[in-house]
Amino acid sequence: MRIITTSLLLLFSAFIFAQTDARIYDIIDAVSSERIKNDIKRLADFGTRHTLSDTVSKTRGIGAARRWIKSEFDKISKDCKNCLEVFYQKDLVKKGTNQRIVKDVEVVNVVAIQRGTKFPNRYIIMSGDIDSRVSDPTDYTSDSPGANDNASGMAGAIEAARVLSKYQFDNSIIYVGLSGEEQGLFGGQGLARYAKEKGWDIIGVLNNDMIGNITGVDGVIDNRTFRIFSEPVPPNETERQRRARRFFGGEVDGISRQLARYVHKTTKTYMPEMNPMMVYRLDRFGRGGHHRPFNDAGYPGIRIMEAHENYTQQHQDIRTENGIDYGDTFEHVNFEYAKKLTSVNVINMASLAWAPPSPEKVAIGGIVEPSAKLKWDKVKGATGYKVYWRDTTSPTWDHSRYVGDVSEFTLEGIVIDNFYFGVAAVGENGHESVVVFPNEIWRN
Ligand SMILES: [Zn+2]
Repeated sequence: MRIITTSLLLLFSAFIFAQTDARIYDIIDAVSSERIKNDIKRLADFGTRHTLSDTVSKTRGIGAARRWIKSEFDKISKDCKNCLEVFYQKDLVKKGTNQRIVKDVEVVNVVAIQRGTKFPNRYIIMSGDIDSRVSDPTDYTSDSPGANDNASGMAGAIEAARVLSKYQFDNSIIYVGLSGEEQGLFGGQGLARYAKEKGWDIIGVLNNDMIGNITGVDGVIDNRTFRIFSEPVPPNETERQRRARRFFGGEVDGISRQLARYVHKTTKTYMPEMNPMMVYRLDRFGRGGHHRPFNDAGYPGIRIMEAHENYTQQHQDIRTENGIDYGDTFEHVNFEYAKKLTSVNVINMASLAWAPPSPEKVAIGGIVEPSAKLKWDKVKGATGYKVYWRDTTSPTWDHSRYVGDVSEFTLEGIVIDNFYFGVAAVGENGHESVVVFPNEIWRN
């Protein structure tokens, strides 16, 4: 009796406070560390995957690696009645474009699209990288297993396709292996340009770069924490938007930051054992990753990665020096951890792919009034809306109220000056869009 009461209570509270979707737990359970391990091994065994490496050999170099990745996506597609559109997207990068491009090279990405049923042109993207490097970024012949950087992210994207291809989604999902990362983020630039040409509506890019290391160079071991890097505001905002921010706020509320908060919240909801750590910057100090070219093009994008890096195992010639084994080799990768971070990706992609679009226009009002008020355009597929607010110093949307299927709401007694506000669309099974920070002023 007590058990029944407790579970009823739990059910009741889950319904009232945070509706969860049981399929998300199935998705977490379906991710396999064994398959991720096998794929990382396979990728590391191509010897080198340097962007400028051999493309003819069947066993060594980036050509063999990308053909294998494509064949994996093709295999996954076969198993889901051809639910994936798999293709190469490529661009020629000319010798001398920068110092790391020492010969003309075709930068080739491997793309797999799982088409959404309701919104086929809206995309959530998970990326890993195909290419690897050693100490000298122009050395394209030496052994460069790149097991963690970034076979781990690539294997995660392939595994995500295996797991999510068993489901149907409203929005499209793209699993992609990008090339040319280490030579200057060329693969991401190429795909972002391609997306612009095709008019893709990108919900967000989850760039996975190094998701398999749990032992930091300082000896800290941690298999629960991971980092979510996001830039504060888009780099291509207009001068008018920049000026408006001075008076209305939004310094830490750009589209990529909202995506970061979404990933943080979904993880806290469905994987409470994990410790997501938002980092309020584009990327690590002075370093780069493949979400950046998407940000440059005005798309939301974040970097998901391990919390503790080991620099003796990144971008290193394989060698032993003073008793330290240098090199990004297979043995150093923690596959259980890579599985956890892959799960973080799949639950967020599933939630977003089942969610309605975010309201485009959100207006806020309440200047010299006792209550803040919000108004938005309704979106297709939403069953209701949720208003969020938080203290101006808080990183997360700590307060929310489900307001039903309306297009405006007044938060009685909540003063506009003292909080930040946002609105999300809610769909069937409770899946929510990314929160939208107000982009207009509602004047009486
Ligand atoms: Zn790297």
